[in-house]
Amino acid sequence: MDSTIFAEMSALAVRTGSVNLGQGFPDLSGPSSVIEAAYDAMRAGRNQYPPGHGSPELVAAVVRHQQRHYGLHLAPDQVVVTTGATEAIAGAVLGLVDPGDEVVVCEPYYDSYRAMIQFAGAVRRPVTLRAPDYRLDADELEAAVTDRTRLILLNSPHNPTGRVLDDAELAAVASVATRHDLLVVTDEVYEHLTFDGRAHVPLATLPGMFDRTITISSSGKTFSLTGWKIGWATGPAGLVAAVEGAKNWLSYSSGAPFQPAIAHALDHEESFHRQLRDDLQTRRDHLCQGLDGLGFEVHVPQATYFATTDVSAFGHADGAAFCAAMVERARVVAIPTQGFYEDGSPDGRHLVRWAFCKEEDVLSEGLRRLQGVDLHL
Ligand code: PMP
Ligand code: GLN
Repeated sequence: MDSTIFAEMSALAVRTGSVNLGQGFPDLSGPSSVIEAAYDAMRAGRNQYPPGHGSPELVAAVVRHQQRHYGLHLAPDQVVVTTGATEAIAGAVLGLVDPGDEVVVCEPYYDSYRAMIQFAGAVRRPVTLRAPDYRLDADELEAAVTDRTRLILLNSPHNPTGRVLDDAELAAVASVATRHDLLVVTDEVYEHLTFDGRAHVPLATLPGMFDRTITISSSGKTFSLTGWKIGWATGPAGLVAAVEGAKNWLSYSSGAPFQPAIAHALDHEESFHRQLRDDLQTRRDHLCQGLDGLGFEVHVPQATYFATTDVSAFGHADGAAFCAAMVERARVVAIPTQGFYEDGSPDGRHLVRWAFCKEEDVLSEGLRRLQGVDLHL
């Protein structure tokens, strides 16, 4: 198997001394109270396998979180803790999809979706979100469904486009899923990182949708602790059991001392992610205005860590070649988004993703370096 584009570009950044605006991780750690809580858990002996299902206090904290933010009332068997959202996605796809089934997925799609659909022996049916506004077209969604479709794999807020699905798009997904009796797996890891007062609405809150939806999130983005890899999946007990069944053979259980620490974070550190959201919005503006000033066509995101740009104005038809040139000329790393599209797709070839979840001085240095070079082919 190839390594991921994110790992590849981060290694390149280190090797070349480049400013890393590629892989989505923040420069600074999350709340110190959460780090202290992990130390406390380790010192208290929370160092052996926790229950595969999740430590009781984290399961209870996820239940409270879903209730507080979205009015969803969950029982403990409607939650499973996973090794990051990555394992929740793997568990959901492997647990719910059989070989030969079709999975409808919004393109561009996060790289692990493609890998997991392949691992399951299933078939991807992409529905493309097109620049500049990356809206989900209800007719295209409908047209992607066949009598072999098992589930829709959704991601909102969306990586790499930063799109937050609006009420009409969510209603279209609900309508298609209900009429064709499909399951939906929705990846909501950027749920708290939305900008300009925009609210994230989980699909599971729409009428009739809870019973057919697995909702996935993670502490990595919400609390700037991407390396801890504590995520979760929630939904009706039968679907959660299928995710947990797969998880049993993937990792069995996840980071013992981190689980009580993330329970503490969910219960007590809401102000952290509110502040993070506001800081990210400022950094989004900093990066987007800087890139715009350099002549990029910038697609300003509504959420997440990332902005996408069209590099064809500089004569580059190929984002990967553009990114390679920027490392060489400017020592700045970004991510070509063509890897989030079907092979050979024309839609993503000329798009490049930039991460703004970095410190202001890192963004300034990246922009300064880009300003000093010829961006043209
Ligand atoms: N889904 C999306 C859309 C992501 O951007 C990421 C990257 N953080 C993940 C899932 C993986 O999350 P985790 O690090 O919690 O495994
Ligand atoms: N989610 C992060 C990104 O999109 C990367 C996570 C990873 O490297 N797997 O950049």
